[in-house]
Amino acid sequence: MASLSVGPGDDIDAWCGKCLMIMNHRIIAVVGNQVKKVECLTCHAIHAFKQGVGQKGAMVSRGSASPATRTAKSTAPKPGKAESEWKVFVADMPADIIPRKYGAFECFAVSEFIEHPTFGLGKVLEITGGERMLVIFKDGRKTLIFNRSK
Ligand SMILES: [Zn+2]
Repeated sequence: MASLSVGPGDDIDAWCGKCLMIMNHRIIAVVGNQVKKVECLTCHAIHAFKQGVGQKGAMVSRGSASPATRTAKSTAPKPGKAESEWKVFVADMPADIIPRKYGAFECFAVSEFIEHPTFGLGKVLEITGGERMLVIFKDGRKTLIFNRSK
């Protein structure tokens, strides 16, 4: 039987209905093999776990650390580090660029600067799937939905 390698207190990517995108969440409750409740680390809403809006393999795609090797004491990345990383990217931004407003139905390209209503200025680092992109913001890297079909 497959056993769940995450437990309460671990971080997990999940759909946040408030932020309207895939966000880092902290697991609040696990029942059996299933994550039941999560807390959004961005808006701190506590809600039922939803992996994503689409069906396409929501969280496995982003592979760096394999969940199986993670220990229970895994903590969120230090904000200071993320911020300095973000500053480097933003320092690169040409003065005449106007960042495009983020929208789930818009299409963005790698290296494009975007303006997000919650996170502010960000830069697209990577397209991680047909509808997902990794964007660096002042408070860290976020996976956003984009290019969604209506
Ligand atoms: Zn949220």
